[in-house]
Amino acid sequence: MSRTSETSDVGSDVTPDVLVIGGGIIGLVTAWRAAQRGLATAVLDPEPGGGAAQVAAGMLAAVTELHYGEETLLGLNLASARRYPEFAAELTELTGHGLGYRRCGTLAVALDADDRAHLRELHALQRESGLQSEWLSGRECRRLEPMLAPGVRGGLRVDGDHQIDPRRLAAALVTACERTGVVFHRVRAERLTVVRDRATGVVTADGTVLAAGQVVLAAGSLSGRLAGVPEAVLPPVRPVKGQVLRLTVPERYAPFLSRTVRAVVRGSHVYLVPRENGELVVGATSEELGWDTTVTAGGVYELLRDAHELVPGITELPLTETRAGRAPARPTTRRCSARPTSTACCWPPATTATGCC
Ligand SMILES: Cc1cc2nc3c(=O)[nH]c(=O)nc-3n(C[C@H](O)[C@H](O)[C@H](O)COP(=O)(O)OP(=O)(O)OC[C@H]3O[C@@H](n4cnc5c(N)ncnc54)[C@H](O)[C@@H]3O)c2cc1C
Repeated sequence: MSRTSETSDVGSDVTPDVLVIGGGIIGLVTAWRAAQRGLATAVLDPEPGGGAAQVAAGMLAAVTELHYGEETLLGLNLASARRYPEFAAELTELTGHGLGYRRCGTLAVALDADDRAHLRELHALQRESGLQSEWLSGRECRRLEPMLAPGVRGGLRVDGDHQIDPRRLAAALVTACERTGVVFHRVRAERLTVVRDRATGVVTADGTVLAAGQVVLAAGSLSGRLAGVPEAVLPPVRPVKGQVLRLTVPERYAPFLSRTVRAVVRGSHVYLVPRENGELVVGATSEELGWDTTVTAGGVYELLRDAHELVPGITELPLTETRAGRAPARPTTRRCSARPTSTACCWPPATTATGCC
């Protein structure tokens, strides 16, 4: 396998040290880092840089998304958040791509007494866990974000929860991989090959056999469906459908929101993520519908209805995109699109690296 060509060398005879199945954000980061360390690395994906990143909101919300019983995950998320500035700077320097990494903070607000009680509980848990967040009255919330509805009853200001633009991140990672010599095979893996309990490579959809020293399974929500993975180590991931809207904030309304604003409205999570380029991402539905990615009138309606309740002025903004994606979710995930988590199930020498939401 050549280390310089981009796509068409499937079947060439150099065996990579690492073969990554799946070129979503997790697979691309893994491949980039492996190549940086001098390992001959290849990525197998019909559409590298596609996947959930094309739909995701990109909230980096370790503190706002804290849940009881997830201390280990919290530690991982906080460590990741601490390393993000350096990671983003390194990636931008290498590729010249902006990533839309905004250290804008997050405001989680309550619209009724129940939401308020829930947020108060979250605040107590955050404080017990030594995290930084500040309780604000409804008036203080509106002072911070004047577009908020008058009915907002209070909220949590979390200055440490930021955002990245996942589309730009994915594009930058593809470039970073190319620059570090990662080989891309734009083809689907059909089957993992296993010899005496060791993953030895894959058979691709066009029947090519690719051998590798190590295989990393990073196929997102499809990771549990790859043929050949022994039952005992099949990652327990499933797809959860999320519909997302993109609106544009015209100059005359800018800045519409200065930070991520989120809430639970009638039991559904809704968030508004303002990008630096004037885009406003509104998400997300959370639907157990298998592999379906249809954008539905009901999904769009619910998102607009809930977002409007939170920020009434949203109806003035042009609606520029509606899209649905599949987030990899693990069995313990209670709500998917509003609660990014991550799992990494290791099975040497094949590793599953799945970012879950
Ligand atoms: C609506 C929505 C909102 C979200 N919001 C957030 C958020 O605010 N914050 C957050 O942290 N996360 C969020 N997420 C989750 C986040 O996007 C995902 O966790 C993350 O992008 C998953 O990355 P991944 O690389 O594990 O998987 P994916 O992005 O799914 O990538 C998997 C890749 O594997 C490839 N593939 C699959 N099968 C094969 C095969 N057999 N052979 C070769 N390639 C294969 C696919 O083509 C794909 O490119 C959201 C997700 C959705 C859907």
